Amino acid sequence: MLANDYEVTIGLEVHCQVRTATKMFCSCRAGFGYEPNTNVCPTCLGMPGALPVLNEYAIERTILAGLLLGSRIPEVSKWDRKNYFYPDMPKNYQTSQLDLPLCIGGAVPLYEWAFPANSKTPMAQDGVVRRVKLDHIHLEEDAAKLTHYAGYSLVDYNRGGTPLMEIVSAPDLHTPDEAYAYLKSLQQIMVCADISNADMEKGEMRCDVNVSLRPKGQQKLGEKIEMKNINSMSAARRALIYEIRRQTEELNAGIAQVQSTRRWDDALGESIVMRTKENAHDYRYHTCPDLIPVRTALLVQRAERHMPELPEARRKRLMQEYGLPVTDATTLVGDGELCACFEQTVQAGAPSRKTANWMINTLSSVLTEKETTAADAPLSPADFADIIALVEQGIVSTNQAREVLGYMWQHPGTHAPVAADALGYKKADSGALEIIVDATLAENQDMVEMIRSGNAKLVNALTGKVMKTANPKPNPKLVTELILARLQTMEK
Ligand SMILES: [Zn+2]
Repeated sequence: MLANDYEVTIGLEVHCQVRTATKMFCSCRAGFGYEPNTNVCPTCLGMPGALPVLNEYAIERTILAGLLLGSRIPEVSKWDRKNYFYPDMPKNYQTSQLDLPLCIGGAVPLYEWAFPANSKTPMAQDGVVRRVKLDHIHLEEDAAKLTHYAGYSLVDYNRGGTPLMEIVSAPDLHTPDEAYAYLKSLQQIMVCADISNADMEKGEMRCDVNVSLRPKGQQKLGEKIEMKNINSMSAARRALIYEIRRQTEELNAGIAQVQSTRRWDDALGESIVMRTKENAHDYRYHTCPDLIPVRTALLVQRAERHMPELPEARRKRLMQEYGLPVTDATTLVGDGELCACFEQTVQAGAPSRKTANWMINTLSSVLTEKETTAADAPLSPADFADIIALVEQGIVSTNQAREVLGYMWQHPGTHAPVAADALGYKKADSGALEIIVDATLAENQDMVEMIRSGNAKLVNALTGKVMKTANPKPNPKLVTELILARLQTMEK
C-alpha cells in the first residue's frame, strides 16, 4: 500500500506548568533559574510523614484553562497516586488525577496563523481552521529535573512539585502540520490567558505524541506508538513525519506494529524503541489518602469572573484598535508580557505602529540578550514612550535609541532625554549642521557629480562623512535630509 492508503491518527498529551508563586502541595517557591535544590522542603522531597497542602490558585487556573477550551468542569474532582520508582520522584509516586480530572472534553482551536510557515494552510473560517477534540485536562505535580552525564546523573528537586497541567487530546489529529498548529495554538492560549509561560525551551511546556496508522476504511485504530518528552513544536512535527514514514514502510513490508514507546532523537532524526506495552494498571493507581476531593463550584465562579480574551480575539483587537499590520499583531499575541507592555506604552502617549515595530525589533532582542521579560525590565512603559518620542523628534535614530535604552538600563531612574544628553545626542542645531554639510559637499565634488548622474547610494557615504565631523552626533536621518535638500537647491 502507498502512504495515502493509510489513515493517520495522532493524539497529543501536553504537559504545561501552571504559572504560580508556589508549588502544588507545599509553599516552596516555584519557577525557573534558581540555584539547584534551594527551593525544597520535606513535602516536595517526599520525607516520611510530610503532608501535602493543595495550591488553590493552581486548581483555579486549570479550571480557567478548561473553561477557555470549552471543557465541562465536574462538580467533584479527586486526587490519585501514580506509583513509579525513579530518582526524579522521591516519594515513589506522583500525585495526579486518574478518573475524576478537573476538566472533561472541550476542544483546541487550530488557528490559521499557527500552521508552520512552509506548510499549505487549510482554509479557515474566522481565523480557526477547525477544533480538535480534547479528552480531558488534569492537574498533577511535575517531577524533578535530571541531567545525565557520562557515568553519572544530577538531580534538581526545585522543579519537583511544580503544578503541571496535562492536556490530553482525543485521537483527533491527522497530519504533522496539524500537530504543530495544535501546539502553537495551545501555547498562545496559555500565554494570552496568563496561565503558563509555556516556553518549550525552558521545559515549561512539553509534549508526548502518539501516532497510529490503519488501512483506509478500517474502524479499529492501529497500534499506537508513543514518543515522549518532545521539547519543540518543530521537533514534534519532524518526529511525526519520520514515524508515519517508518510505520508505512514496515506495514507495507508486512511487519505488524506493536504498541510501544519510542524515544525521538532530534539530532539523529530517528526514533528508537524503548519499551513495549505500558498500561495504566502498570502504575497501580489508587486514590490519594492524604488529600480530600475538591468541590469545584466556587472555583468555577471565580475563574468565570476572570475570563481573558483568546489569541484570535486579541489579534483582531490589536489590528482594529491600534491599526497594526497582521504580522506585528500576531507577534505581539505570542508574547503576553510584551503585548501588555505595548498597550501600556501606547497609553503613555507613544504612536502605536512605531511602538509595535520598535518593541518587536529592538526591545525584544534586548530582553533576550539580558535574559529577562518586559515586566521584569528596570524601565517602565512611560520610559519606553519617552525613548520613542526622542526618535519621533529626530533627536536620535532608531539605532541610537537602542543606546539610550542601554544607558537607562544601566542607570535606573534616568529619564530618556537625560540619557540622550549624556550620550551626546542633542537636537541638532541645524544652522551649525548646515555649515558642515556645505563644507562636506564642497570637499567631495566628485561624489556630488556622481550622485547627480544617478548614483543615489553615495548619499549614504556623504552622510557618514558629516556624521564623523559633527559634534554632538546628529540624527543620520536628519543629515541625509539636509544633504538631499542641498543637492536639490544646487540643481536649480
Ligand atoms: Zn516544598
